[in-house]
Amino acid sequence: ARPIVAIVGRPNVGKSTIFNKIIGDRLAIVEDKPGVTRDRIYGVGEWMGRSFSVIDTGGIEVYGEDEILKSVRMQAELAIEEADAIIFMVDAKAGMTPSDTEVAQMLYRAQKPVILAVNKVDNMKRQDDIYEFYSLGFGDPIGISGAHGIGIGDMLEAVMNIL
Ligand code: GDP
Ligand code: MG
Repeated sequence: ARPIVAIVGRPNVGKSTIFNKIIGDRLAIVEDKPGVTRDRIYGVGEWMGRSFSVIDTGGIEVYGEDEILKSVRMQAELAIEEADAIIFMVDAKAGMTPSDTEVAQMLYRAQKPVILAVNKVDNMKRQDDIYEFYSLGFGDPIGISGAHGIGIGDMLEAVMNIL
């Protein structure tokens, strides 16, 4: 069986954008579990001849801060349970938020290997914005940009190295 990689993070950091970049047209299953989570989407990714399953934990609908925290937690916990490795995604443009800290705490408990990807590093200037995320405690943050296709290879390389 392929190893499973879950993309986890608060809404709007760019998880689905990166998911689509990773899978290209290799969308595997679209799952809809009413009442629990919406549309956890599975695809197949490939890097240097190794293939892996990837889960996008998107599709979260939110109506307020409490709901954000609740649905982020539920989505992430289900994906984390299944995953062999996790891409924890945050947003360089927005900077660190309380929801990021919330997700981080879940990941400490999960004790699974985590790569910290800082998305929306669209230009060199923003590369400086990745360092505040060191404090999340997952080692070197990797700057990426889904919009510009930057750093995704480096991120997948790091994921392969922890599997
Ligand atoms: P998700 O909620 O985490 O799945 O985030 P989405 O993939 O839906 O993206 C949220 C928003 O961020 C969308 O408007 C995207 O176009 C935008 N976005 C995604 N990646 C990037 C990026 O690398 N740079 C910038 N500037 N915007 C991005
Ligand atoms: Mg999404």
